[in-house]
Amino acid sequence: METRKVRVRFAPSPTGPLHMGGVRTALYNYLFAKHHGGDFILRIEDTDQERFVPGAEEYIIEALKWCGVVPNEGVGFGDGPDAPYRQSERKPMYRQYADQLVNSGHAYYAFDTTEELGEMRKLIEDAGGTSSYNAITRQNMKNSLTLSEDEVKSRIAAGEHYVIRMKIPRNEEIRVKDLIRGWVVVHSGQMDDKVLFKSDGMPTYHLANVVDDYTMKITHVIRGEEWLPSAPLHVLLYRSFGWEKEMPEFAHLPLLLRPDGNGKLSKRDGDRLGFPVFPISGSLLDVKTKKPESFTGYRESGYFPDAFINMLALLGWHSSGNQELYTMEELIKDFSLDRVSKSGAKFDPEKTKWFNQQYLKKRSDAELAAIWMKDLDSKGIKASEDYVLKAVHLVREKAVFANELHSLGHFLFTAPDTYDAEVIKKRWNEKSALFMSALKEAFRGMTTFTAAEAEACFKQVAESNGIKTGEVMQLFRVCLSGAAGGPALFEMAELLGKDETVKRLETAAVKIK
Ligand code: GLU
Repeated sequence: METRKVRVRFAPSPTGPLHMGGVRTALYNYLFAKHHGGDFILRIEDTDQERFVPGAEEYIIEALKWCGVVPNEGVGFGDGPDAPYRQSERKPMYRQYADQLVNSGHAYYAFDTTEELGEMRKLIEDAGGTSSYNAITRQNMKNSLTLSEDEVKSRIAAGEHYVIRMKIPRNEEIRVKDLIRGWVVVHSGQMDDKVLFKSDGMPTYHLANVVDDYTMKITHVIRGEEWLPSAPLHVLLYRSFGWEKEMPEFAHLPLLLRPDGNGKLSKRDGDRLGFPVFPISGSLLDVKTKKPESFTGYRESGYFPDAFINMLALLGWHSSGNQELYTMEELIKDFSLDRVSKSGAKFDPEKTKWFNQQYLKKRSDAELAAIWMKDLDSKGIKASEDYVLKAVHLVREKAVFANELHSLGHFLFTAPDTYDAEVIKKRWNEKSALFMSALKEAFRGMTTFTAAEAEACFKQVAESNGIKTGEVMQLFRVCLSGAAGGPALFEMAELLGKDETVKRLETAAVKIK
């Protein structure tokens, strides 16, 4: 059998910011495509104009770029053979497919008004059933199955509103083969005659999705579990079109679960427990309330994109061994759908921080210095590159996020104006104050001021003042930085330099009472 070139797509609807679960879907599509030397397409499914949120599409594109999950064709990423990639721009092509299904008897026109549909619903619900437009109820409704051909024609000619519905077979088992879950079997009696084409001239999600996957030669549909219930209808659509041979394989990905329960991970969990649920920060209209809603992203929270991606890759997929740190290249090499789990993946915010820390460790001093430089710039603090590089070296060990560097080492740039009260209370007394004064003078007399030299001098002054170094070490630190803990003490003094160290000791003597 001829094997087709792997072509997959990520097909979000622009209804809001891309949730991290959506990023994971995009990522798995990307990894799968790259692993097989195939194509990865971004298609925007915007057939539902009422749920369209301005700016959502731009958000999706920016988020994918930040993550390095870059499609080789699609909206925002350049055209390929199947352009356009926005469904609203493909609108003229869907009607012929809906007509094809009507002509082959797999779909029909339905003229029912909203009131008539409401009445049907009420009748069924009053009788204790669940309302559905299906093989039984359709016989009592106004559609091309119950009306005469002439009437159908004259209604259409008169411009009456109608939709095109799928004619679901009455009594059949529909089998969907899912690469993650195995066979999923649904009885057609449980399916309803979904609308394929709306009165506004737009296809619904189902029709547009299947037609696009077919025309774009998609070989694998990798999407969230919430689309599994739609899969039997999609299989039926392929069959009804006579496209069985071209039908893609399906893989429905497990849900991302909240850290403290079994529910689906939502924005509310993030707000409640203090972690981002979106790749980048922003503000968009809420699809339901139409009011602006802002949200926090991983990018703005200080996460590295590669750490975020590494963490996401392992939420629902596991490696063949127990490797945890993966570059994108390694993920591409190792990824396979048969190691995606069926059950939901619990999100762990602490582990996510751990990933970031591992990636921070891999960054060079220079890379971190560039980030810190920007931070300093925005604060109006001037410092040479060389100085920031050394500052990075001193504080990086404690950092989980690059945006923490300043809070870990602000005193390397600005003198303290408060001093750790506990240390002062415990250690500042006449004797230690005398020591500090002697130390200051001894430092002042030094010609070179390396960490080793400063330390030797410190010890010597302690000895000649009859004071144990343990009694004044932390105090010296507090005089220099204001804080009880921090980077290696004498290295810090060396970086500050002799003059600044002496100056800080002078200021401390005045300020500490
Ligand atoms: N437009 C759907 C969504 O918003 C796509 C589902 C699919 O991938 O088929 O997720």
